[in-house]
Amino acid sequence: MARARSIRAFRRACAVLPGGVDSPVRAYAAVGGSPVFLAWGSGARVGDIDGNVYTDYVGSWGPLLLGHADPAVVRAIARRAASGLSFGACTELESDLAEEVRAAFPSCERVRLVTSGTEAVMSAVRLARAATRRDGILKFAGCYHGHSDSLLVSAGSGALTFGVPSSPGVPQALAKLTSVLPYNDLEAVARLLKKKGRSIAAVIVEPVAGNMGVVAPAPGFLKGLRALCTRHGCLLIFDEVISGFRVSRGGAQAEYRIRPDLTVLGKILGGGLPAAAYGGPAKIMKLLAPEGPVYQAGTLSGNPLAMEAGIQTLRQLKDRKIYTRLERLSSKLQAGLQEASRDSGTPLCVNRVGSVLTPFFCRGPVTDLQTAMKADTKAYARFFQGMLTRGILLPPSQFEAWFLSAAHTEAMVDRTVAAAREALLESASP
Ligand SMILES: *Cc1c(COP(=O)(O)O)cnc(C)c1O
Repeated sequence: MARARSIRAFRRACAVLPGGVDSPVRAYAAVGGSPVFLAWGSGARVGDIDGNVYTDYVGSWGPLLLGHADPAVVRAIARRAASGLSFGACTELESDLAEEVRAAFPSCERVRLVTSGTEAVMSAVRLARAATRRDGILKFAGCYHGHSDSLLVSAGSGALTFGVPSSPGVPQALAKLTSVLPYNDLEAVARLLKKKGRSIAAVIVEPVAGNMGVVAPAPGFLKGLRALCTRHGCLLIFDEVISGFRVSRGGAQAEYRIRPDLTVLGKILGGGLPAAAYGGPAKIMKLLAPEGPVYQAGTLSGNPLAMEAGIQTLRQLKDRKIYTRLERLSSKLQAGLQEASRDSGTPLCVNRVGSVLTPFFCRGPVTDLQTAMKADTKAYARFFQGMLTRGILLPPSQFEAWFLSAAHTEAMVDRTVAAAREALLESASP
């Protein structure tokens, strides 16, 4: 499989972009080799600039639940583009998308639309601090909530991959306000809140963790967080940037029947264009300017093209059959990987929630960051390269989710499992 053009393109990029990329995990540092440069995507397939075609499990890291270049979404954006790209003024599209969000997430009585997940989380945390008049934040190790200063403490994926638990440039004084506990450890949360609950504005959690690889919430974990937050007057923030519209149309909060105080959405919300949101009860959201004193703004917030892509995507997701189909495909892939693991003698712990999964290269179970870190990242790197050679594009890090889309097919999953079996046998042989 020729990759000469991609290699040249990466050299060129490295001379003008730090590390050759605009987001660290794209650089393949964790799996070695030069990143593949993509030219097109269609359905569940992408093509690189050397003419190779891959079945894609990156899916732009989550937004593409309908697959690449969904025809209805593309038509809608094209039509909208002809009427103007941005106004910085009111459009009806913003209410259209916000109403779709509220219909799927009843906990979001009011919705503020922004441009990235990072921005949405950062703003939700500011709002929580203002609403509670407290400064502390409690998060969980391995959960990623974007790269804003307060949250870039023991963050997952990119930071994990590079062995940088937090980042230089984050002021100590700010990092000190963020407490970090192991995911799924409810007793640790109870102890911490008992001691310093009065200083904690919010407990923020990925209700289905996706950024240390996929880790499901243990039975009772989310319900316990809800009860503890209520008892101690902290807001519970669900970061559903991955799980929203994916785990179910109503996200993890619908799936597990928990009502958080604030919800953060992104990725699927923009259908592949930059859009994100945070929402909650009217009485909290009305603290936002211009209704209230908490400032947060954005030139491109509610951008018409992003709204259009989001609206078209969310409308298609009203068809429940999509989720049934995703569940069938994903469980087939999970079972296939488990079987390939047994046949090759390579232990894999395949965690899955709906259409996101991660095969951890270890025996498992993987229930938090500590157990995730037991995975053999070198074995994953070899597997990644073996799969790439066989035309399967995986996330270039052990600690990421594989994303399935409605455009994947049973035949693709069969081919993926067959490729996985070969790649595992190949890397298992001395
Ligand atoms: C991707 C992600 C974010 C950050 O979103 P960006 O749009 O990349 O800024 C925040 N939280 C979670 C759970 C994510 O997966």
